[in-house]
Amino acid sequence: MKVHHLNCGTMHPPRAPHCVCHVLLVETENGLVLVDSGFGIDDCADPPGRVGPVRFITRPVFVPTETAAHQLDRLGFRRKDVRHIVVTHFDTDHIGGIADFPHARIHVTAAEAFAAFNSPTLQEKVRYGRQEWASQLNIVEHSPNGESWRGFAAAKQLDEIAPGIVLVSLPGHTRGHACVAVDAGHRWILHCGDAFYHYGSLDGTHVPRSLWAMETAVAFDRKKMRDNHSRLAELYRSAEEDCSSSRHTTRRCSNAPRRPPSLPARAPAPLFRRSPGPRGSGAPHRHSRTALPRGRPAPRHRRPAHW
Ligand SMILES: [Zn+2]
Repeated sequence: MKVHHLNCGTMHPPRAPHCVCHVLLVETENGLVLVDSGFGIDDCADPPGRVGPVRFITRPVFVPTETAAHQLDRLGFRRKDVRHIVVTHFDTDHIGGIADFPHARIHVTAAEAFAAFNSPTLQEKVRYGRQEWASQLNIVEHSPNGESWRGFAAAKQLDEIAPGIVLVSLPGHTRGHACVAVDAGHRWILHCGDAFYHYGSLDGTHVPRSLWAMETAVAFDRKKMRDNHSRLAELYRSAEEDCSSSRHTTRRCSNAPRRPPSLPARAPAPLFRRSPGPRGSGAPHRHSRTALPRGRPAPRHRRPAHW
């Protein structure tokens, strides 16, 4: 499967590196699939109503051109071809864009759907109070168990979407948080959602204190959060997978070689016909380290971010 990396929301929390909302766009035989969605068009139009006070902490730029919908347009894809969206959890910066794809089924763990739509604790009431609109969408709940994936005990391959897309239960950041593994052909890509905020949690380098404090403060279960760091760091050291954080790292965390030497350097043929976009358009961010000025549109890159 061909995988594109998109940044669907740039944030500038105080005293921290800029953060991105990492979204995977996957071309499958059964249509386009998104993993997470970042902020959406409605979020940009109404930040107070859709995102709420947390925006004063994360400080998103809310630029419509960063939304997945606009980036698909620039890439020449049709929004209605997005048939499935797999979300790691229901925080606003991960699900805002799902509203822009009404033809898609939204896949999430049953535990996360329960937390988002029933909010049994005060923390969850505060956390999910502005996401009720999502309950009207076509939600598909999953209970990963019984299968294992790369040492993670609770996983489920989402066969109804495509072979090679696996929901890996990893609660801690939220009650039903999950990671999503995607088989990109020559290696797996693991979208870690918010299982860790900064790559220092994996490679042992310094984690900015502001990010550490934010991550700890919002964690549903801090012990599980720390356990997840350890397990993902172990996976990182094993050099088998490409572990990508959704937003808090502005680089992909990978010990794996970029491409096995036996594979050709040329990308596989696209499964979807794409109309030619304007020159230089269509390009998602590839985790630029350059902070975006607030209120300005995202820069355009000439090279599609896929492999
Ligand atoms: Zn989160």
